[in-house]
Amino acid sequence: MTLTPYKNEPYYDLSDEANREALQRALAEVGGRLGRSYPLIVGGKRVETDGEISSVNPAKPDQVVGRTGRATEREADMALETAKRTFESWSRTEPTARARILLRASAIMKRRKMEFMAWEVYESGKIPSEADAHVSEAIDFLEYYAREMIRLKDGVGINAIAGEESQYFYQPMGVGVVIAPWNFPFAILTGMSAAAIVTGNTVVLKPSEHTPVLGALYAEIMEDAGLPEGVLNYLPGYGSEVGDYLVGDPRTRFISFTGSMQTGLRINELAAKPNGQPWIKNTIIEMGGKDAMVIDESADLDAAARDIVTSAYGYGGQKCSACSRAILHEGVYDEVLERVAEGVRSLRVADPTDPETDFGPVVSEAQFEKVTGYIEAGQEEGELVAGGGFGDPSRGYFVEPTVFRVEEEARVAREEIFGPVLSVLCARSFEDALRIANDTPYGLTGGVYSRNRDHLETARREFQAGNVYFNRTITGSLVGVHPFGGFGMSGTDSKAGGPDYLPLHMLPRTVVERF
Ligand code: NAD
Repeated sequence: MTLTPYKNEPYYDLSDEANREALQRALAEVGGRLGRSYPLIVGGKRVETDGEISSVNPAKPDQVVGRTGRATEREADMALETAKRTFESWSRTEPTARARILLRASAIMKRRKMEFMAWEVYESGKIPSEADAHVSEAIDFLEYYAREMIRLKDGVGINAIAGEESQYFYQPMGVGVVIAPWNFPFAILTGMSAAAIVTGNTVVLKPSEHTPVLGALYAEIMEDAGLPEGVLNYLPGYGSEVGDYLVGDPRTRFISFTGSMQTGLRINELAAKPNGQPWIKNTIIEMGGKDAMVIDESADLDAAARDIVTSAYGYGGQKCSACSRAILHEGVYDEVLERVAEGVRSLRVADPTDPETDFGPVVSEAQFEKVTGYIEAGQEEGELVAGGGFGDPSRGYFVEPTVFRVEEEARVAREEIFGPVLSVLCARSFEDALRIANDTPYGLTGGVYSRNRDHLETARREFQAGNVYFNRTITGSLVGVHPFGGFGMSGTDSKAGGPDYLPLHMLPRTVVERF
């Protein structure tokens, strides 16, 4: 099987008039399709449920993007049973044939990219350029994991002793429960489930209750790409209603989850409890972060301030990699803070379909309440430098980009907020800055701005985060270029979009024959 070498999907130039017009057409066309119903898909059959999930546009909460089925334990049971049965045939399907389905799904996504970008805008509140990066990432996952499976299909080389043949290869695991978050509802959901599928497992896919329509669109693409019925079972539902059942069921072989620390730890605990299954369930768990950028006194201050603003406020700070703490050396503190505040005051928060918008709403009313609660807490704990305002949630969940000058102990500087709120902290020295950066249970992303080689080398060794970036933004990881995932309470140390990811979904075997 010969393929072109892997490369990242290019983004649209949205300053180009033709692209802007195409985007407007896609927004109008998808806008005309809002409000439709998407039942569950189990074993290729559409399954109606008594309840439904109503997914709304966070910029206009009275606009329904779509209504999906709402699984109960009854449908979860059907999905697990179907996935278990289908595993018999899918696990025996040639790895190259499985990889081809991902490549075909990628081709479909590429052809309909503007359309999926438009869905992202409506359902998750992303501005079109963020939506472009996001749909491109989904395409990258498909392309990258297809090639990775081809690389790993015959196993990897090991040694042999004279008179023997040794083989080390990977076999599929079983039924995977894939539980996705709302913030990258297309890319992360695609990446987690495509990795599970291409490695020969069958999947019960539970999208976030905030973004279930994008999950339905992905399931339809996989059907169009020729994935056999029952390999991917689309099961929208509330975590509180079906989560424990899916995780705890003895038919589940592994759980692939991305979301909050609270949910991730609960899943980890429940998965570890024996429930009659003859295996220890594997978990691939990606959780939150409290990501920091350190700026020392040698840094290019303009570039540092610009990249802090981009990292903190892209998609309204709702990226797990977002900068939520800027740790500034005391020698440059006032200057960088002023430049950051200036950059923040120039940001425009509005409906993401408006081309002048820098970022849109936060995703839900619950998220709006959480973020604005932290804004109130921040004003008691520290000094409000910029922002702090928010709109009437009945007219969209808009929150101003907000900057606080706080001490290390402040809750806004310690807890994950997941919104457009930045805490700015002062460090006495570079060592002190690294100490503050590492003083968190999380360890997802981090950054250093410096021209000092010793500082960069120290940070290379000592900055305890899964993804550390020097002299650039800390968001925007690219599949196959910046394998992504955190340490500590940010996850189980896996790296999505990297060379170690697929083996997490397979059982390695050693088989030896003596001649
Ligand atoms: P969440 O934990 O609220 O929900 C994530 C998913 O878990 C949803 O599908 C939800 O329905 C489900 N769920 C809820 N309760 C469950 C239960 N008891 N059992 C099983 N599933 C359950 O998280 P969220 O608000 O959707 O996502 C935001 C969080 O995700 C943030 O903390 C962010 O940092 C994190 N995140 C991490 C990464 C990463 O790569 N580390 C990437 C994106 C997001």
